[in-house]
Amino acid sequence: MLQIKVFVFNPVMVNTYLLYDETKEATIIDCGASTAAEKAQLSGFIKSNGLILKQLLNTHLHFDHVLGNHFVYANYGLKPKYNSGDELMQQSMSRISPIRYDPVLAGDYLNENDEISFGNTTLKVFQTSGHSPGSLSFYSEKDGCVFTGDALFHLDIGRTDLWGGNYSELITSIREKLLTLPGETVVYPGHEEPSTIEEEKLNNPHLRRL
Ligand SMILES: [Zn+2]
Repeated sequence: MLQIKVFVFNPVMVNTYLLYDETKEATIIDCGASTAAEKAQLSGFIKSNGLILKQLLNTHLHFDHVLGNHFVYANYGLKPKYNSGDELMQQSMSRISPIRYDPVLAGDYLNENDEISFGNTTLKVFQTSGHSPGSLSFYSEKDGCVFTGDALFHLDIGRTDLWGGNYSELITSIREKLLTLPGETVVYPGHEEPSTIEEEKLNNPHLRRL
């Protein structure tokens, strides 16, 4: 059974998800740890629970979602996996980020329909572009949950006024890739609290008329 530990890291309050199951194998989605205290909190949890970190995934490469990538690479030897569509953006963003960080280039690129496995858990990759060109969501059918980054939030959707953002692409991504999941699927967004697909279908003011 999938366990989901949420850390809220850095001044932008990004959700960093640490997923693990009964095998103790673990995956991080969006490591936003930026301070020594945040990094210690993350590594302390991994150590005290005896977890074996297998991979680092990024929903997209906005700075708040990748601030801890270098820490994960330096301490666990894991390069991030993400979609190549955001790499050009990361180069320019790392220069203007209010918080200095060292971008870590991908170990592997992820694309639509890829499957990522650790322990007894499998995540399917959806390309959910629009908030950024390379935005991804990660779906576990078995566990009934989807990690949507900044594409879909509780009663909100991602902004599209940043580099490479595209509103109609975002709406299409949400409609075709996310809202077609079972209604009870739990949505774990990149910021703030979880939701469900049904809740967003019924009550998200940006999606009502789709
Ligand atoms: Zn973002």
